[in-house]
Amino acid sequence: MWSSRLFWKLFGSYGFLSVGITVLFVTLVSQWQQEQIVNQIKIRLHDAAVLVESEILDGLVLERTESLQTQLLRLRQKLDTRITLVNFDGIVIADSDRVSVSEVRQMENHSERPELRAARLQGQGTAQRQSTTLGKPMLYFAIRVDKNQEPAGLIRTALPMAMVNKQISSITRVLWVAGILVNLAVAGLTFFLSAHVMEPIAALTKAAQAIASGNYTSTLRVNRQDELGTLANSFNVMSGQLSAREQQLQESNQRLEAVLGGMAEGVIAVDETDRVILANAAASELLGFTMAQFESLPLLEVVRSHLLQQLVTEARTTESLQRAEIEFHSGSENRRVLDVHSTPLPDASPQRVILVFHDVTELRRLESMRREFVANVSHELKTPLSSIRAYAETLSAGAINDPENRDAFLHRIEEQADRLQDLIQDLISLSRIESGRQAYDIATVNVADIVTACIAEHQGAANLKRIRLSCSRIQHDLRIQADEEGLAQITNNLVGNAIKYTPAGGEVTVSLRQQDSTICMDVRDTGIGIGEEHLTRVFERFYRVDKARSRELGGTGLGLAIVKHLTQAFGGTVSVTSQPTRGSTFTVQIPIA
Ligand code: ADP
Repeated sequence: MWSSRLFWKLFGSYGFLSVGITVLFVTLVSQWQQEQIVNQIKIRLHDAAVLVESEILDGLVLERTESLQTQLLRLRQKLDTRITLVNFDGIVIADSDRVSVSEVRQMENHSERPELRAARLQGQGTAQRQSTTLGKPMLYFAIRVDKNQEPAGLIRTALPMAMVNKQISSITRVLWVAGILVNLAVAGLTFFLSAHVMEPIAALTKAAQAIASGNYTSTLRVNRQDELGTLANSFNVMSGQLSAREQQLQESNQRLEAVLGGMAEGVIAVDETDRVILANAAASELLGFTMAQFESLPLLEVVRSHLLQQLVTEARTTESLQRAEIEFHSGSENRRVLDVHSTPLPDASPQRVILVFHDVTELRRLESMRREFVANVSHELKTPLSSIRAYAETLSAGAINDPENRDAFLHRIEEQADRLQDLIQDLISLSRIESGRQAYDIATVNVADIVTACIAEHQGAANLKRIRLSCSRIQHDLRIQADEEGLAQITNNLVGNAIKYTPAGGEVTVSLRQQDSTICMDVRDTGIGIGEEHLTRVFERFYRVDKARSRELGGTGLGLAIVKHLTQAFGGTVSVTSQPTRGSTFTVQIPIA
């Protein structure tokens, strides 16, 4: 309260007013009092003059006599005023303040004294002035004395002003003391009243400041029945409501943040000036900006895409949803395809626009892979079919009668038909594995048995090419939970490839070991190897390092894709290390459990 400017203003104004009124009042009253005192003294002087007149009228002689002087001296003692008798020409006859007639004689002519001149003309006159005779300020009163209706002379009574002033100043002193006392009382009362009014106002101000700074906990305790009490109560209610609203707002903000944060779709909202007002984590991840960066920045600065900017403008001008697919490069390699919906926000401000981003990169990649696959399959099927058709046409055109060519053509037709069958078989396996419809017969499988069987199966082909096919470091008791047929297909495909891509005189070795909780099967060959640039792609469908060689060797381009998908179906991984011309090692790792 002491620091309250309003309190000091209120208290100061009342104090100033009270002091002003007191000063004015005391000044006016003391002036009025002064006039009253002067008037009373004039009456007294008048009465004294009248008394003097009655006392001396009979013996009034306008000559200076000792007896007259003595009589005046006596009257002076009785009336306690100075008495002067003056004749009509202004000559002083007697004066109570002179001891003897001789002294009176020395007094100057008084005809020009203002009180005497007035009395001569109007019957009576007064004056306040410095006495030439006595040398001090005096109050004079003079009356004209008539004898037998003829002006006989003038009687003047006088009192020193010092006496008048003494009375006036003692009254003024009393007035000032009373004024100061009243002022002190008024100041106390004003202080009390101001404090009484200001206390709740100061508390209200403090509470309002607290609310403005976001603290809603303070409640006002004002125990009054007046308007300030009502105001404080209303303030408490209002602060309670505000606090509840703030909490609701915070909760709904948190909900909104949680929803936006949990969304897979990116969301960005821009205001009427295209500045970003909201963005979620998915948007920052998709478009490659940091969350702390976007606040209040123009959209084009946050996401450098003119197409996006155009979408925002179109949504705003058409006031309808706009859709587009944009290709976005957030980093040097990070290319994404985004399906963007741009909608004007349906609130009070139609100028705000919300952008929703769906990442369709994977979808588009799968679509293009599907297209590529269909084209590849068509092409792969077309080649052997065209060959079969050409050989058949040649045979029916007459070559059937040529025993040498006939057998060769029939052998080619058989070869191409086998190739077609292999291809279709691989396609069927792959589609089953991929679609998840492959019903695996999961059982405990001894991996060593499968490897041994596979080696036995491929031994003939290896011998034909003079390749040493063997197994090393085989742990015989390695058992895993898997589909036997699937595991056999993985091993066969890898061993088959190793033999296919290893020139005569080479070596193919299969090894089996346990590593932590997985089994590792390595199929190592000393073949042609794979260039580093192809290593990541050899597991793709129809991907071949050397198409012609693969076809020549009867490959379908699907063997490794099948290996990859089967391994993944058993919860494992497949990898390859290779050096061109020195050989490759394919490693399959499958968890034991
Ligand atoms: P393919 O039927 O053509 O062999 P795969 O899917 O089995 O198809 O293999 C894909 C490609 O990977 C092959 O065309 C070949 O170029 C390469 N490849 C696979 N295994 C080996 C290997 N052991 N040595 C060298 N290249 C290999």
